[in-house]
Amino acid sequence: MQDFSSELAALASQSLLRTRRVVDGPQAPLLTVEGRRLLSFCSNDYLGLADHPEIVAAGIAGLRQYGMGAAASALLSGHSAAHQRLEAELARFVGLPAALYFSNGYMANLGVIGALVGSGDTVVVDRLAHASLIDGARLSGASLKVFPHNDSARLAQVLARCPDGRRLVVTDAVFSMDGDLAPLGQLATVCAQHDAWLLVDDAHGLGVLGPHGSGSLAQAGVAAPHVIYMGTLGKAAGVAGAFVAGEPSLIAWITQRARTYMFTTANPPALAVATSASLALMAGDDWRRERLRALAAQLRQGLAGLPWTLLPSSTAIQPLIVGDNAVTRALAAALLEQGLWVPAICPPTVPRGSARLRISLSALHTPEQVGQLIAALQSLAAEGRFA
Ligand SMILES: *Cc1c(COP(=O)(O)O)cnc(C)c1O
Repeated sequence: MQDFSSELAALASQSLLRTRRVVDGPQAPLLTVEGRRLLSFCSNDYLGLADHPEIVAAGIAGLRQYGMGAAASALLSGHSAAHQRLEAELARFVGLPAALYFSNGYMANLGVIGALVGSGDTVVVDRLAHASLIDGARLSGASLKVFPHNDSARLAQVLARCPDGRRLVVTDAVFSMDGDLAPLGQLATVCAQHDAWLLVDDAHGLGVLGPHGSGSLAQAGVAAPHVIYMGTLGKAAGVAGAFVAGEPSLIAWITQRARTYMFTTANPPALAVATSASLALMAGDDWRRERLRALAAQLRQGLAGLPWTLLPSSTAIQPLIVGDNAVTRALAAALLEQGLWVPAICPPTVPRGSARLRISLSALHTPEQVGQLIAALQSLAAEGRFA
């Protein structure tokens, strides 16, 4: 029997071994990590809802009412009144006619793509699309084509050469490592012209963009029967889970055919109850989005003129491109020494030569905390050893 110690040693020698740090207590900007207090800029809890008392209380009330487990898949006895109510609320939240609640975003993407296309069909993905979209495309058996990042003209060329069969275009709405936005209006138009479906993954836009956080499609003013929305509930919503929204007949079909919906135990009903509470807070608390925008503006102003480039981003994701892998890791380590936890993202997660610090902001960061990060980066830049 082979073991993997030499493979692991090879990863370690290339500094590619991923490690996990153990966090104690709830998610917040200040974390207790293996006995240390760290100021974190690495969570996707963009609105600061992951430990909101009303959401926690709703989860506890949900546990009392429904118990712990759903005990079956949704198509058997696992679909509760809490799930049913949440699906109606999710559809209303994003302004679409129907929604289906999934265990998480990874499974939603696998399930939807597999429900819509198969062998003889074509999936066309943005080059920077999330791993779950690529995996869903591969697993579906459809042929996989790639278009250059955010290039709708090149997408049109790819679609024009597709064989007969169904076509599905998939993209992130907000790109997770760059923070930039897909041109959703243009993509929807090109897809309509070439008789293709468009699946939009709004993991980083739901709750952050659009009126009252209603997401990227609402912000772009895109709504059409060939456009399918996927939102996740573990990031800005602060809970767990995901959903797909669109035309009722499309959602009904996905319910019949998405294998990651059919062949898995439904999420605990208490999670659905907690998510309902989160939706109400997301829609009502415009101040959280305003805070996030103000903090992003403060960060962008404070980091202008440093030797590293901040990518243009209007979202909570603010990537600082350093370039070299070792220099990026050293910079992250130097920040960590000062109690600042900012992840270094290196290839293959991002293209070669574009290693970066992925700074992510939360509405619960204070201006003083963002100021602390700016000051630390400014003084590290002045040292000159990270250029
Ligand atoms: C996080 C993420 C997912 C996966 O969602 P989970 O609910 O965490 O499984 C899918 N797509 C994108 C773009 C993501 O960032």
